[in-house]
Amino acid sequence: MSSAYLQCIEETCRRRQDSRKDAHSCAFCGGLLEVKYDFDQFDPEQLRHAWHQRRLSGEPIDRSGVWRFRELIPFVEPGARIVSLSEGSTPLVGTRRAGWWAGPVHLTIKHQGNNPTGSFKDLGMTACITRADSRGIRMVACASTGNTSSSMAAYAARAGIKALLFVPYRQISSAKLAQALDFGALVVEVGDTFDEAFRLLREIAPELGLYLVNSINPFRIEGQKTIVAEMLEQRAWRPPDYIVVPGGNLGNASAVGKGLWELKDLGFIEKVPQVVVVQAAGANPFYQTLRAGSSELMPVEHPSTEATAIRIGHPANWKKARRVLDWTGGFCESVTDAEIFEAKTVLAEDGVGCEPASAATVAGVRKLVRAGKIERHADLVCVLTGNQLKDTEYIMRHRSEDQESHQRLRVEPDLDSLRRALERALTSPVESR
Ligand SMILES: *Cc1c(COP(=O)(O)O)cnc(C)c1O
Ligand SMILES: [Zn+2]
Repeated sequence: MSSAYLQCIEETCRRRQDSRKDAHSCAFCGGLLEVKYDFDQFDPEQLRHAWHQRRLSGEPIDRSGVWRFRELIPFVEPGARIVSLSEGSTPLVGTRRAGWWAGPVHLTIKHQGNNPTGSFKDLGMTACITRADSRGIRMVACASTGNTSSSMAAYAARAGIKALLFVPYRQISSAKLAQALDFGALVVEVGDTFDEAFRLLREIAPELGLYLVNSINPFRIEGQKTIVAEMLEQRAWRPPDYIVVPGGNLGNASAVGKGLWELKDLGFIEKVPQVVVVQAAGANPFYQTLRAGSSELMPVEHPSTEATAIRIGHPANWKKARRVLDWTGGFCESVTDAEIFEAKTVLAEDGVGCEPASAATVAGVRKLVRAGKIERHADLVCVLTGNQLKDTEYIMRHRSEDQESHQRLRVEPDLDSLRRALERALTSPVESR
């Protein structure tokens, strides 16, 4: 059997950690930890076949898009209960207008909004709540811009574990808050930003003995990395040129990179796609840090963007994400809220809905093609991280008077009025958006 251990990511340290403790940072230098494996010898061809076969199985562990690839995440002790809600197995869909608008490029969407709680966070949460549960942990906590909360609340409920959430006051969408409450979590609204809520949680966690499930938890990354196995399988194991993700706390970028790296190491792919991270201009510390070539993070003290899922000024995983860009020859771009809105509008014209943070990816591609950093007709996968219904306030807030008057009719309930209103609406040249 393959075996797992935790190791510090700092080049100057790289020390293995005491496997009986699930610490959040290195006991020696305070660096970030990652899960490492002594993998068994794999025959990639055989495993691909086994993974494919599992799609036909009715077993919950095989139906999950995370646990179907369990050979890639062998940290679960034999006999441990798997806490799953049948996450993953999300669609890969082509685009027409969005790819044309952004390039032209061959743009495919990996839609993580089709997860049990509506975001990619579910992939990480099934892994990390399974871990917590197997360690006998009875309470988990996180700070969140919203989606981690919804997801943690659901998986904790599933496992019968208490959930404690720290969210910035009035800074998360009502849909995300409602989900967390619905799943029975205890919600603490504290601070004006995610960074503030997270800092307070980290400070109080040791006192209360809290098990944190933020993306600094290395087991979250393990679940999230399976997205690349699933995406490659859906593409008959032909890697794209680029994989594009939005960047907030940078856990997702770290996970995508780790997944790619391991699949290459294990002989599943030869070419590794370049990983591209896109941040919002008002919350782009990673972009600024890389541009300045700084070896220290240049945080953004007052992050601001309507894409609340990526409104983060001190991304905890920035060193892991930087390593991923180095490994894959990737880069980071920054886009304005106006550009995000435009991208979201174009995606909607393809019938693809998503959260604003997700649309940042497509906006970033357009900018990079125009700057000549991504070649026209490149083969790209943009990861749309969250469901359209996560932030309907955003959609309604952005509707112009003109759109409203063309798209919404308030009609008296009689046939004459109805006929008149429809005649007018259906014959006037409808300005589509
Ligand atoms: C969490 C989240 C992000 C940011 O992911 P990180 O791993 O924090 O970089 C982006 N979009 C959505 C919808 C999210 O929920
Ligand atoms: Zn260390």
